[in-house]
Amino acid sequence: MSSRAPHLVSRLQGFGTSVFSEMTSLAIRHDAVNLGQGFPDTDPPPEVIAAAVQAMRDGHNQYAPGPGVPALRAAVAAHQQRFHGLAYDPDTEVTVTFGATEAVAATLLSLCEVGDEVLVLEPTYDAYTAAIAMAGAVERRVPLTPPGTSGAPRGDARDPGPWHLDVDRLAAAIGPRTRLLLLNSPHNPSGLVLDAAALDAIAALCVEHDLLAVTDEVYEHLVFDGEHLPLATRAGMRERTVTISSAGKTFSCTGWKIGWACAPAALTTAVRTTKQFLSFAGGTPFQHAIAVALASPDEFYAQVTGIHRRRRDLLVAGLRGIGLPVTGSAGTYFVTADIRALGHDDAQAFCRWAPGAIGVAAVPASAFVRDPAPVRSLVRFAICKPESVLEEGLRRLGELASSAASTGPGAARAERRVPSPDREDPR
Ligand code: PMP
Ligand code: GLN
Repeated sequence: MSSRAPHLVSRLQGFGTSVFSEMTSLAIRHDAVNLGQGFPDTDPPPEVIAAAVQAMRDGHNQYAPGPGVPALRAAVAAHQQRFHGLAYDPDTEVTVTFGATEAVAATLLSLCEVGDEVLVLEPTYDAYTAAIAMAGAVERRVPLTPPGTSGAPRGDARDPGPWHLDVDRLAAAIGPRTRLLLLNSPHNPSGLVLDAAALDAIAALCVEHDLLAVTDEVYEHLVFDGEHLPLATRAGMRERTVTISSAGKTFSCTGWKIGWACAPAALTTAVRTTKQFLSFAGGTPFQHAIAVALASPDEFYAQVTGIHRRRRDLLVAGLRGIGLPVTGSAGTYFVTADIRALGHDDAQAFCRWAPGAIGVAAVPASAFVRDPAPVRSLVRFAICKPESVLEEGLRRLGELASSAASTGPGAARAERRVPSPDREDPR
């Protein structure tokens, strides 16, 4: 994934094809159960699809205003007020983007001078690293403590406990060139949901060191234990935070790529300046549909959370049932499991092998870290699939666990066929 690409500028060398594309390509090629890339198998609610179709029929097929369709900006502002008590002016403080991904890129390109440092939690979502590189900024990773290791809350053999943020490590990473903190909670892939105490400690650091904050909250409605609290709700943070989210996860429309950034007017002006030259404005009918979707009643949002909580519980119990220690994430689309009971100890090799060999695709945790050693045997499994799909995935993994238990890990490894990653069909 990191071979040298001719013609590509040096600051983007090594990015290769994203692990999510790689694993979905393998899943398609081998018709595997795809528990890798985080997208749902189900469609958006029918009324949201109907709203998109209606918007097309009503002639909303040309460029939207650069900052986004007014109805959607109003709906985003109303959503922030309803769920988080945050007030944003739809005209000057809300910007619609091409997914959260563009919002993150536009924000970093707008706010970072070349050489500025950006703090991120590690494991790190790959698009952050790429956006930081595109901005000519410098990434400073603050490692979360992996489950079951010293410094993390203690668990047991079946449940190694959660990943853990040591705020002192975050404080120690702040230096004279630190410009901003890019924070993701609920956190992909760890499933960590930062609580009020952690957010307050982070906020105090941002205020003390005069840092800007950029938050990626795309899993804000996928919190199963505890609650989602935006960093912008903490003391001193609203005025220094760009709060980013998107519709893909909440409304099962990851392919529509409708996202948004909420920030005080001065920060919004900066973000909009860049965003207009990245994509200008896109997905006009989808913007209208998401305006309708965001106005869904509270029960809809509770249902989305409930469905995914059941799926999380099913996958966690199933994986533990076949002998894998699992970190039962408090939120997101993902859980992480230690795969050694499957007769494999290298998650990256396992994830390249498993789609062809046992018909299951997943993502190695090592794809999110620089030093793979502490997470070598950890695999991220997606929960955002119908229960029948999760059960089939579990059945296939269970067969492997049984054969590993009866033949021993050496024999299970000897069966490996390692397909080469398909680079012709990235998604
Ligand atoms: N941030 C995180 C943490 C994600 O996991 C993802 C992928 N689902 C995104 C951003 C991308 O969001 P979008 O599709 O809205 O660009
Ligand atoms: N966020 C998704 C994941 O973590 C991937 C989205 C993408 O492929 N860009 O699986």
